[in-house]
Amino acid sequence: TVEVHDVHKWYGTHRVLDGVDLTVRPREVTVILGPSGSGKSTLLRVINHLEKPEIGYVSINGELIGVKRHGDRLKELSERAILTQRGRIGFVFQNFNLFPHLTVLDNVAAAPVATGKLGKPEAQKLARELLDRVGLADKTAAYPRQLSGGQQQRVAIARALALRPGVILFDEPTSALDPELVGEVLAVIKDLATSGTTLVIVTHEIGFAREIADRVVFIDGGKIVEQGPPSEILDNPRYERTRDFLSKVL
Ligand code: ATP
Ligand code: MG
Repeated sequence: TVEVHDVHKWYGTHRVLDGVDLTVRPREVTVILGPSGSGKSTLLRVINHLEKPEIGYVSINGELIGVKRHGDRLKELSERAILTQRGRIGFVFQNFNLFPHLTVLDNVAAAPVATGKLGKPEAQKLARELLDRVGLADKTAAYPRQLSGGQQQRVAIARALALRPGVILFDEPTSALDPELVGEVLAVIKDLATSGTTLVIVTHEIGFAREIADRVVFIDGGKIVEQGPPSEILDNPRYERTRDFLSKVL
């Protein structure tokens, strides 16, 4: 379970997250929707401790991430504790962020070796299995630049899986792709969802959200405006801001 408790984040005087509470239960798929600049990426980055909230905290399976409640004061975790906890969270970015100088196989095998979780032969064996799962068994020796965007994003998903994370966060995983490549990436994410992986996905693919989300969260101006099952939020939104957003993206 990922719990976000009353998270506030601001840059200068600009409030980007304004009291966000969110619970992600194991095996659930949460889709986050919201207009540009509403704080979606920042929320994912806070969950993964790439950003520190000014107020509030995040816990994963009861363990606090980033800032720790200590009496009334917030005590920061050591860099090492943060890295350990971050190893339990997969992150898939809009722009893939693969290591350009490593082969596809090594992109996937690198993290389990670097974190000491697996020896190199075991990590490479796992990487082959994961690349097979995302349909890229024949690309292990290629370099990222030799792949299409859709293929690169599938490598990025295999790489996230290699640490056997408790949850995978996706930040607009298909929005940098040519339209004909979107489907192959969504199919891989759907496979993860149906096999019970806990996922948090920021996306504008409303049809996809309706298909796979257990819960849809609509965020605007750094606040969660409403959340619920897709049938409620997508088909019967209660708030004008949600209706307005949906009318623009559908
Ligand atoms: P998009 O749909 O365009 O990706 P988003 O919902 O992901 O938008 P965020 O990237 O979380 O939005 O940004 C929320 C707000 O915070 C924006 O107004 C953005 O300009 C601001 N912001 C984000 N990162 C920083 C930063 N490092 N420094 C200053 N302002 C930032
Ligand atoms: Mg964003």
